[in-house]
Amino acid sequence: MNWITKIIKAGEKIKSAIHKRATKEDIANSDWTSCCRGPILKKELEENLWVCPDCNKHHRIKPRQRFDILFGKNNYEIFKTPIPKDDPLNWSDSKPYKDRLKNARKKTDMNCGMMVVCGSINNIKITAVASDFDFLGASMAAAEGEAFLYGIQHAIENQTPFLCISAGGGMRMMESLISLSQMTRTTLAINELKKENLPYLVCITDPTAGGITASYAMLGDIHFAEPGALLAFAGARVIQGTVKEELPEGFQRVEKNPAFVDLIVERKDLSEKIGTLLSILLKKNSDISTDENETTENTQSLTKAAS
Ligand SMILES: [Zn+2]
Repeated sequence: MNWITKIIKAGEKIKSAIHKRATKEDIANSDWTSCCRGPILKKELEENLWVCPDCNKHHRIKPRQRFDILFGKNNYEIFKTPIPKDDPLNWSDSKPYKDRLKNARKKTDMNCGMMVVCGSINNIKITAVASDFDFLGASMAAAEGEAFLYGIQHAIENQTPFLCISAGGGMRMMESLISLSQMTRTTLAINELKKENLPYLVCITDPTAGGITASYAMLGDIHFAEPGALLAFAGARVIQGTVKEELPEGFQRVEKNPAFVDLIVERKDLSEKIGTLLSILLKKNSDISTDENETTENTQSLTKAAS
């Protein structure tokens, strides 16, 4: 081996080491992540609720991290939701869907992409759902639909408000029409919640897109959003390819879509805002029912007097 071959071999080793360092798995297992000023310690980010102290980027978080922030560390009950039969269409693309599901479960320690819990803010019991982007892009399929419906049922049975932390790229193509039908199922379930006069709050987080935007994420009584969250139906690349024009900066970010959200709330203020709003909404609800009772009583006494 001459000296040129040696140098080339050494260069290849360094190149492969750099390449290996950059894999998603390595980043996930490392103590570091990156943001505007380059590498940042995950611990530092965690102390700031996974929000960058320099650029205020609200990094994506997992359902457990979300509920820890909202309700206090482990201060909520996680429900086991029904899991329908895996891979009903026997789907395979570059990999079998069954394998993708297996990997997602291993990666997230969740059976499906949506977690249902019950916790409290200001002594108000709340049923809540949140999705994990690491579970196949938090896409919605039969199991996630079951989880959502389980949450709504729990809210109705226990007369609690329902909070949805929305995230996800849309309906899962591997379950085709079965996934799409979750748009109707979740919409019908939300109607049942509304018939009970129970508040339905949505917090839009990055990214909320596709069928998720076109169904349960846009049906809230009040819509919050985290700063910088992407809220879209079709993706920017598809739109750019269709209109053949450069899209403006910040396209599809919630700041540019003020008509779709009522409030943009920083992560650190979310719990307090939800608590205040629910106190007002629930008081209003009880006032309405008191009024209804009064009306019934008045009607009864009027009827009595008339007879
Ligand atoms: Zn940053």
